[in-house]
Amino acid sequence: MSKQNTATPKLNLNHLYAAAICLTGIGLFALFNRAVFIHYTTSTWVWVYALAGAAVVLTIFTFQLPPQGNGLSLDSSVYLACIFVFGPSFSLTVLLVASAVIFLIERKTVWWKHLINFAVYSIINASASYTFAALGGVRGPLMDNHLAAYAGGMAIYFIMNTLLIVLYYYVLHNENLYETLKGMLKDTIIAYLSTLVLSLVLTILLYHNHIFGLALFLCLSILLSYSFKQMFTMYRDIEERANRDPRTGLFNHSYFEVVLEEEMRKSRSTGSSLSLAMIDIDDFKKYNDHFGHLKGDGLIVFLAELLKKECGGAEMVVSRYGGEEFTLLMPSYDTDQAKDFLDRLRKTLNNSPFDGTEIFPQGCLSFSAGIAGYRSDIHDKSELVEHADQALYYAKKQGKNMVHIYGHQSLLEQDIDFSQDVRDIEQQLNLFMYKDMETFKHSKRVFRYAMDISELLKLDSLTKRQFTLGALIHDIGKLEIPWGILNKKEKLTPEEWEMVKWHVTWGKQMAMTNDKFKDLAAYIELHHERYDGRGYPHGFKGEEIPKLCRMLTIIDSFDAMTTERPYQPTKSVEEAIVELRACAGSQFDPGLTEFFISYIESRHLRTKEAAV
Ligand code: GH3
Ligand code: MG
Ligand code: MG
Repeated sequence: MSKQNTATPKLNLNHLYAAAICLTGIGLFALFNRAVFIHYTTSTWVWVYALAGAAVVLTIFTFQLPPQGNGLSLDSSVYLACIFVFGPSFSLTVLLVASAVIFLIERKTVWWKHLINFAVYSIINASASYTFAALGGVRGPLMDNHLAAYAGGMAIYFIMNTLLIVLYYYVLHNENLYETLKGMLKDTIIAYLSTLVLSLVLTILLYHNHIFGLALFLCLSILLSYSFKQMFTMYRDIEERANRDPRTGLFNHSYFEVVLEEEMRKSRSTGSSLSLAMIDIDDFKKYNDHFGHLKGDGLIVFLAELLKKECGGAEMVVSRYGGEEFTLLMPSYDTDQAKDFLDRLRKTLNNSPFDGTEIFPQGCLSFSAGIAGYRSDIHDKSELVEHADQALYYAKKQGKNMVHIYGHQSLLEQDIDFSQDVRDIEQQLNLFMYKDMETFKHSKRVFRYAMDISELLKLDSLTKRQFTLGALIHDIGKLEIPWGILNKKEKLTPEEWEMVKWHVTWGKQMAMTNDKFKDLAAYIELHHERYDGRGYPHGFKGEEIPKLCRMLTIIDSFDAMTTERPYQPTKSVEEAIVELRACAGSQFDPGLTEFFISYIESRHLRTKEAAV
């Protein structure tokens, strides 16, 4: 019979179910057994003891099955073979003796569990015996013209067993019926069906080779049980190794991703807190350069051991994210609690003596950490990681040896960050001065439009930062396009066009390599998508394209139309507005187009007035 790993019942509910099972089981036992054992001869008793012994041995030598390690015992083969060879009353006598022996061996298990187990087996045995006889089965040797009876008996044995176990879990453990059934069938069905087929093998062995046949069956089962146990240990071992980082023994990146997804799902359904901390050793490159990589590795292991020790008691998942970066997944911690914990951890590290700490600017070991709290509007795990990463980046910029919570910097500070970022991007754009001056100037104009629009849309400072920097950097991928194509005066060939289209993808990849600019990737990648879905690279449609990316497309096109370029016609502002309206609904978002036009008109009016 298959047994799932069990815990003690949460609720002592429904004694009624237990009582009903016990009464039915004992009733069926009485009906099918009728205490015929009183008349057994000594040689029949020898058989009873031998088969009950076999059932007990098989209950002890179970097969552990991956992935959960559920135990599968072959004792069902013995009871079924008893039914087929000796009949139902004999099979139930064997069950009675085996149950008595197991009761004596497993005295730690409460008596009513033994009783329920006995009753369940009685019900299954009686049902299988009844079906076997009803389908014309005759006890004795295996007869191939009675295959339907054997199949029927085995099928009922299987169905009753599954049904009673699933009901048991449902009533006593309050578990979901469908899920329990699915889990049970998924993990054990093949192995369990093999048990049933093996009962036919035992039937043949019993009938033709008697005790020797039984001994043979037992030996084989014990050997198999041993091999399964070894296989299961190996499975667990391999699983463990696949999830661990070999150097530190912490969980690795891929396992972290699996757990993160799982924990986010739990928090979503239960509403409990979840925090993610990203930790990075400060100035580690310096330590490596000074003492060599071997000693650097020693430092990584040292921090890993500290993390294990300090986080060991709590339900946290500590992983080596990569290099000298670690993640701490903290279920049921809100961000403030997570910060308290990490600050304490940071101080412990600061106070830990370690070889060569004098070379660090702070004179001690330290790390910086970024914390992100899970919110129900975060659907993708990479978004939470990205938040923690940004918070870490912020902590580094504030002078390291610091823990920062995502979103906690003041608006003023965000603006300070921002101007430095503009300078950083402008430095990259300077490369266009040599390669394509027009793209350089265009990027700067688009940036200024985006600044105005951000004010009009009253964007919060983080969104403003992303939108305007995204506008500034949107064409960065063009750096990859050969000079000859970028500056070609004639019409581009289809192949050349294909290459130009790649700039959005290349640009995105360039932004993704820099932690600071990862969150701008969407603007770079999606600014050539069209409202009607005929744009590139994905062909996203309507609201599939983020709102501000749709706005960037309008700004980008308007600037391209109105820019003076040698050998190319230029549109006046009025003509460009007509063109924007003509393409609203196909290329552009109609609502945003009108918004942009009203902005351009008022700006244009102001410029004219100033000129007058
Ligand atoms: P910061 O304070 O800004 O984090 O500065 P840092 O010097 O720590 O810089 P960063 O985190 O960017 O660089 C980490 C360096 O760690 C880069 C790489 O050479 C080194 N590193 C990554 N993995 C290992 C490793 O397994 N062993 C050793 N010895 N060094 C590693
Ligand atoms: Mg690093
Ligand atoms: Mg570092």
